[in-house]
Amino acid sequence: MRNTLNFLMYQWLGVESLTRRSRYAEHSRETFDSVLDIAERIARERYASANRLVDVEEPQFDGKRVTLPEATLKAVSAYAESGLLAAGQDFEHGGMQLPYVVEMAANTFFAMASVGLSAYAMLTSANANLLLAHATPRQRRAFALPLLQGRFMGTMCLSEPQAGSSLGDILTRASPDGEDFESDPLGPRYRLRGNKMWISGGEHELAENIVHLVLAKIPGPGGKLAPGVKGISLFIVPRLLVDAEGRLTGQRNDVALAGLNHKLGYRGIVNTLLNFGEGSFPVRDGAGAIAYRVGNPGQGLQAMFHMMNEARINVGMGATMLGYAGYLASLDYARNRPQGRAMGLAGKDAAAPQVSIIQHADVKRMLLAQKAYCEGGLALALYCARLVDTKRSGETEEAQDAALLLEVLTPVAKSWPSEWCLEANNLAIQVHGGYGYTRDFAVEQYWRDNRLNMIHEGTHGIQALDLLGRKVVADRSRGLLLWAARVMATVDEARPVDGLQQHAAALAQAVDEVQAATRDAWASGNPEDALANATPYLQAFGHTVLAWLWLDVAISATAALAGGAGPAEDFLRGKLQAAQYFYRHELPKISPWLALVAGCDATCKEMAEQWF
Ligand SMILES: Cc1cc2nc3c(=O)[nH]c(=O)nc-3n(C[C@H](O)[C@H](O)[C@H](O)COP(=O)(O)OP(=O)(O)OC[C@H]3O[C@@H](n4cnc5c(N)ncnc54)[C@H](O)[C@@H]3O)c2cc1C
Repeated sequence: MRNTLNFLMYQWLGVESLTRRSRYAEHSRETFDSVLDIAERIARERYASANRLVDVEEPQFDGKRVTLPEATLKAVSAYAESGLLAAGQDFEHGGMQLPYVVEMAANTFFAMASVGLSAYAMLTSANANLLLAHATPRQRRAFALPLLQGRFMGTMCLSEPQAGSSLGDILTRASPDGEDFESDPLGPRYRLRGNKMWISGGEHELAENIVHLVLAKIPGPGGKLAPGVKGISLFIVPRLLVDAEGRLTGQRNDVALAGLNHKLGYRGIVNTLLNFGEGSFPVRDGAGAIAYRVGNPGQGLQAMFHMMNEARINVGMGATMLGYAGYLASLDYARNRPQGRAMGLAGKDAAAPQVSIIQHADVKRMLLAQKAYCEGGLALALYCARLVDTKRSGETEEAQDAALLLEVLTPVAKSWPSEWCLEANNLAIQVHGGYGYTRDFAVEQYWRDNRLNMIHEGTHGIQALDLLGRKVVADRSRGLLLWAARVMATVDEARPVDGLQQHAAALAQAVDEVQAATRDAWASGNPEDALANATPYLQAFGHTVLAWLWLDVAISATAALAGGAGPAEDFLRGKLQAAQYFYRHELPKISPWLALVAGCDATCKEMAEQWF
């Protein structure tokens, strides 16, 4: 995996060139590599070694305390001590000012080693990043800095038992806490009440404190909650109260653990139902959790998107790395499992020795599919992370384009790996045969862990609606047009390259098909027609994005092969074969998907409930 990571970062994306930008001027290939070395080592020693244990010994709650395996604390402490929580932050915040793409690359090791355990750090740094972008200086000092130092850990509290995809229907409410509520140094102070479901990392004692970022509505006149998402505000609700400097005051806030969710996978991180403000821990003489508003009332979801967008790319990266882990496990298994005989012109010779299953074309198909999905998914995550860097440190126009492209690609970055790298895990089990169906091999856990990714951070269906309903049509399809122009630039570059001409032609056609289907879907202007097949659209769009990235990677691999320098020939030929697999076996799938979209096929929409 490290070879592929290095190739994608340095030869394909030219990450080293970022050091010419003033923000990253103190870095070099050596500092980037040493961060990756440290991440790889901690992930191996503290995360991979605990991955099975945290799956088997899932979190327990005895009504008072949550118990986690000792290995959890060791893992999250090692991560915090490495300084990686603040990897991308400014030097003045104690950070390393690393490009996001390097931070993302470092985090791939943790996601691959133990995706559940890795989620504690992801949530904590995303929580701090949101506060650094939207909170007041005092809130940042009291909450964001301790998060970056690993003294506190973070959560994101959006979902409620009755409101998951439809966040506009949340019922958690926050009312001003006394007449002087606006004069608290930690920000406008409220009393918050409500129930938050599915909260990852919601209760534990792995750190001094937990900073919950909670979405809630501020009641209007007569105690009414505004309908829809417009009335949602964002609040900091610490598990334990702190003073203006972020020091614990010794008082517990009114946040109680109602119970744990017992999950299919991803058990390395505790998942909770939290009751806010029900009086289980009365604070300052009353019920109601003390909450500090971040930003203006009604703009909570907007601020939360800061965290959610980051989390979405990370979800895609996690899905990819779980797929990758399964790919490597099944590759190893296939090399060592003797079964069956080679097929010759005269059929099979029963007297010949058995071959390893990797010799069978069908097993190669399953391995090649996994390679194409997972290395492609990794390219997608790194490409998006590189866009984040351009957005942060590029010249104005370049930065604006990066932001726009990122908007369009985020639903794909989240969803494509969640679907196809889960399929990779499915194939990894298949390569193992019956052994893959047992708990004696790791691949079943990877599949269970990965099954979450199509569900959280906006389900697959919701991402599809976001892509077709908003991202590709917003502002007269500027984002779609920019993406198409980028794809066509890659097509033009590939056209004269030996071995890539056919791929280039196929990609040009695919982009035309996607654009035409987008137009046709919206031809009537009726969202009900247009969005009836949003998921096949997401699949087709995602496959076209991946074909584009594979072609771009293939250009780099071809150049490296011709130059004779760089990675070994087998490594590069493997990249070209995976690209070919994607073009021959995967890209052709888009036409039937897009035909449904373009024709506004009504089969699903018109299925009456009583016909089921
Ligand atoms: C392990 C785990 C960890 C999680 N961690 C967190 C966390 O840390 N913080 C947090 O806030 N939340 C968290 N979540 C919650 C997660 O984000 C929600 O489960 C998710 O948003 C879906 O909400 P729901 O479960 O209520 O399903 P629902 O919204 O009820 O959806 C059920 C199905 O209906 C579909 N559907 C719903 N609405 C529509 C629509 N309008 N159009 C088309 N289809 C629709 C969905 O796509 C889905 O297939 C976590 C969930 C899990 C399982």
